[in-house]
Amino acid sequence: MLLFPANMEKQNTLLELQNYIGGKFVPSRSYIDSFDPSTGNIFCRVPDSGNEEVSAAVLAAKAAFPSWSSMSPQDRSAIMNKLADLIERHLDEFAQAESKDQGKTLTFARTVDIPRSVYNFRFFASSILHHTTECTQMENLNCMNYTLRTPIGVAGLISPWNLPLYLLTWKIAPAIACGNTVVAKPSEMTSLTAWMMCKLMEEAGVPPGVINIVFGTGPKAGEALVCHPDVPLISFTGSTVTAQRIIEKSAPYCKKLSLELGGKNPAIIFEDANLEDCINTTVRSSFSNQVKGYVKQALEEGAAVVCGESVDTLIIPPENQGGYFMLPTVIIELKETSCCIQEEIFGPVTCVVPFDTEEEVIEKANGVKYGLAATIWTRDVGRVHRVAKRLQSGLVWTNCWLVRDLNLPFGGMKASGLGREGGKDSYEFFTEVKTVTIKH
Ligand code: NAD
Repeated sequence: MLLFPANMEKQNTLLELQNYIGGKFVPSRSYIDSFDPSTGNIFCRVPDSGNEEVSAAVLAAKAAFPSWSSMSPQDRSAIMNKLADLIERHLDEFAQAESKDQGKTLTFARTVDIPRSVYNFRFFASSILHHTTECTQMENLNCMNYTLRTPIGVAGLISPWNLPLYLLTWKIAPAIACGNTVVAKPSEMTSLTAWMMCKLMEEAGVPPGVINIVFGTGPKAGEALVCHPDVPLISFTGSTVTAQRIIEKSAPYCKKLSLELGGKNPAIIFEDANLEDCINTTVRSSFSNQVKGYVKQALEEGAAVVCGESVDTLIIPPENQGGYFMLPTVIIELKETSCCIQEEIFGPVTCVVPFDTEEEVIEKANGVKYGLAATIWTRDVGRVHRVAKRLQSGLVWTNCWLVRDLNLPFGGMKASGLGREGGKDSYEFFTEVKTVTIKH
């Protein structure tokens, strides 16, 4: 089976995605255009879902919940492993589609995004088999207590454009491993690989209604999910502004929320850093995503742009002149208050700020509203502990970047998020805990 029709453009046909509800592909009444970032041309059409489609998906998920939640963890685990195997079997197709749809390099999609999506399913398929609950004794009262964890119901999952399948599966896998059923809404800008994955559900043995995918925009499809009374929990990854809206809209329903948000992640390079490792990694961490307005603003504020800024259109082939390209850009001489220092620039733009002391760099790093991740480069172990402890950041990488043990919490402080996801944290988020007390 071919998941992604590779010659589509040559045949001059436009791919049309469909929602996946109750184990079936459902055509949509209206569509939105999705663009190929390398050309700026329309490349596929994505369902423009709203209340009606979301309600149908929630209904299907509710119907599937009783049998999925009462299935043994071993049986759920086997189905998830089968889905992982199938994605892996189609790894090249998924990587090509992700690269075309999102604009990341094929190498990145092939070595990071898709393998990690496979691993997300395998990891949670395994971890669900190993959780334990607590038990305490109160001998003076002849009582014992134990905790019980149960799945919650229909989980609403909303993911961003930059790591499409990677982050979607990071949410689907723990949710279904715990026995919930899901309605997921990927980013309208990068929906392709989620739709491709739906084509594998039946073969993997995922029962109809356990995983439902509804495509569409945030304000319409996303908000319909957030406001649906039968969706008691929302796991969201995206911008802080959207999260504020989700908090506001979900408040009347008292939903359980997990919010993984934006960041302004400092890379702190001390004078004793191993520069060979540090420069290679920092170049990757600084220039992996794409936008432009901030550079213009920095120039207006009097900063200096030492490389990049825009792309010389002469170096772009004619068919890609309408694409979204930008050179890696480095800005210096910025004021602390500059929006380039304070706000998230989700692009290949980095601001270089000199410092003299540990105290000074900690103050600068903590002086922004975000607190997602930080990187420290030094050979001094004492300094690593001192600085890591004081940084207001959910993750601190030292002499490395983006190394993840999925057992451990992932998430941010301050405006970077609410809650954590990862082995035990995801298990706790996607289940409800109950304390049972027995007098004996
Ligand atoms: P975004 O907030 O614009 O959109 C994210 C998702 O939310 C999309 O699916 C979108 O359709 C949906 N959405 C938008 N408005 C909505 C609404 N009113 N109600 C419900 N859903 C709505 O973010 P984006 O541009 O897709 O992604 C970039 C952002 O995500 C950046 O801020 C980046 O830092 C953040 N991000 C964070 C992490 C993390 O792990 N903390 C990882 C990746 C990306």
